[in-house]
Amino acid sequence: MLLPSTPPLSLLLIIFLHNLPPYMEARPAPEFASKQLTETTASNYYHYHDHNRFLNSRRGSHVSGLSVIKKYFHYFGYLTSQDYDVSDDMFDAPLESTVIYYQSKLGLQVTGKLDFDTLSQILAPRCGVPDAGSSPTLHATKNYVYFPGKPRWARPIPMTLTYGFSPDNMIHYLSSSDIRKTFKRAFSKWESVIPVRFVETDDYGFADIKIGFYAGDHGDGEPFDGVLGILAHSFSPESGRLHLDAAETWAVDFEVEKSKVAIDLESVAVHEIGHLLGLAHSPVKGAVMYPSLKPRVKKVDLSLDDIQGVQSLYGTNPNFTFSSSLESDTSANPAVGSRFEPSLWAMSMLLAACVCM
Ligand SMILES: [Zn+2]
Ligand SMILES: [Zn+2]
Repeated sequence: MLLPSTPPLSLLLIIFLHNLPPYMEARPAPEFASKQLTETTASNYYHYHDHNRFLNSRRGSHVSGLSVIKKYFHYFGYLTSQDYDVSDDMFDAPLESTVIYYQSKLGLQVTGKLDFDTLSQILAPRCGVPDAGSSPTLHATKNYVYFPGKPRWARPIPMTLTYGFSPDNMIHYLSSSDIRKTFKRAFSKWESVIPVRFVETDDYGFADIKIGFYAGDHGDGEPFDGVLGILAHSFSPESGRLHLDAAETWAVDFEVEKSKVAIDLESVAVHEIGHLLGLAHSPVKGAVMYPSLKPRVKKVDLSLDDIQGVQSLYGTNPNFTFSSSLESDTSANPAVGSRFEPSLWAMSMLLAACVCM
């Protein structure tokens, strides 16, 4: 099976709700005071210092600084018209359509305005890979999404993929052993549902999947942005590159790592491996392929949506049963209920127009 090579899928961008506690769903007064905006990279749009002013803005609003939101949408593939100027602060019709599309894509209530949940989602830590994937009309009753061209590893099934860690691009506050064990668990999540084996190799140069931690601009056109914001990025098949932002506080055990900005390495690894296999972002909040992940949250179990998505690319592992998977899933993932939400593809045509990443 021949597959088109796909451009970099950019960043696992985890936007950070600075100082936002994990109990945010309880709807405290919005607290968006955050970092200063530095527009040196596209990924820093989150770090605008005063997001409160955008709350509940809607079509017709003119809010100083709103262009930051437009640039955010542009960066993640929601506002891709070349004619559209993202530099002004007017909440115009295209922005309203974009907000509706964004809300649809991420399973939010579709209001067309920057309501609390939408603004919170924009500010939340998330994956930097653009959300625009292939047309949802390919599988209108499903939620999972592929990359344009539906690339996958084109090898006979069952296949083995090797992975290696960059000897020169590791972090040192976690032991190499802990990092390796964490990735082994992450790979095993996918391995258990599809007929693909992942084997670590010491021969990094020849590994199918190359994993490393990088800081700032590291030569692939998708610079990392420091603490939070972008956490990592990966590339669609068959690139195999999986890059993590070295500036994050990566954790393998929240009992040991107490930082409130700590990010669970295994959760991000599971998500990024999904990209390496060919899955784009899912609108299902309980899916590991949902683009955002809050600090100090662990989400490592594949949802039904993730499983169906990857199995439609590679087939089913003969040892896999849905019941066993869902049992462990249900016990380990408190978000299990949300994965059965119907998708809200209200702007599916707009999505189709945005798959040019
Ligand atoms: Zn992602
Ligand atoms: Zn990179």
